[in-house]
Amino acid sequence: MSAGLPAALGFSTVAAAVSRLAAEARNDSTVPGEKMTVLIVGSTALDSIRTPGGERDRLLGGSASYAAVAASYFAPVRMVGVVGDDFPSRYLALYRRRGIDLTGLQRQRGTTFHWAGEYEANMNRRRTLRTELGVFEHFRPDLPSDYRHTPMVLLGNIAPALQQHVLDQMERPRWVAADTMDLWLQTARQDLLRLLRRVDLFILNDSEAAELTGELNVVAGLPRLHALGPRFVIVKKGEHGAILSGPGGLFVTPAYPLRRVVDPTGAGDTFAGALMGFLAVSRGDWETRLRRAMVYGAVVASFCCEGFGLTRLSRLDRKAIEARVAQLKRMTRF
Ligand code: AMP
Repeated sequence: MSAGLPAALGFSTVAAAVSRLAAEARNDSTVPGEKMTVLIVGSTALDSIRTPGGERDRLLGGSASYAAVAASYFAPVRMVGVVGDDFPSRYLALYRRRGIDLTGLQRQRGTTFHWAGEYEANMNRRRTLRTELGVFEHFRPDLPSDYRHTPMVLLGNIAPALQQHVLDQMERPRWVAADTMDLWLQTARQDLLRLLRRVDLFILNDSEAAELTGELNVVAGLPRLHALGPRFVIVKKGEHGAILSGPGGLFVTPAYPLRRVVDPTGAGDTFAGALMGFLAVSRGDWETRLRRAMVYGAVVASFCCEGFGLTRLSRLDRKAIEARVAQLKRMTRF
């Protein structure tokens, strides 16, 4: 027994305490009482969306908007993005209603990033009709100084060079997750590869995984994704759920089965945001937390798909989320 330990403590008590501390150090558990705030960077957009069921013009959108609102159901959120002077104040009010810290949201002269997309009949295929960058073109995500110590970082979908710029400003974050999209695999692959060496968790969808690894079978492609740097990889498979790969092996979660999908825009960002929010406030080893967080991600993403833009996502509460988590649990128990 090492010097300095009170002699009155029995060996088993000390051994238990030591092994608990060692387990905590190994697993990087949440320190009790620590506020696990999530910093989220990404696009803040106005989206025009056309589905077989209808169309909406200039709704609130962008990867950061979906992820931040989703994460806000679980943890305190700081958002980093840029909007133009055409950005409706009702959308700022929506962020505020969700308690999102907007110190890092830049407001610039010019137009907000505008994305327009159209879905085919089965909703699994989407075509981008227009991308107008506006103030997003010269966006530099410089962080307010009090953001730099945020423990959890979600690098939502934006150019990988900007995701790296955010990471460069952070002071030893405890957990870094990065999302991406096919555009960056084609136009900024080297930047993305550099970024991946620095992240704990890489989230991408199955077609992006195939493009990045050259392997059509997701499971066969996983070792190649780990070889790029991340200890944990999640491959999203749309309505077929998501698969996690980490040191403890594989874990799969289904998507929550929906009778009707109104608009799947932002479902991936929502999944990532809810996952990070849950991860931030949960305890235990990363692997166990991640598995549960994926289920919460899948459930919150299902709500996202039930309305255009953020209309359904922004009007949730924990009770509705927990009810669906319980349903999903019943559906998958065997
Ligand atoms: P998802 O459906 O998860 O792929 O996310 C859709 C969101 O991504 C929309 O709200 C768009 O505003 C946003 N988006 C589309 N293209 C880009 C882009 N090039 N960079 C960043 N965000 C984008």
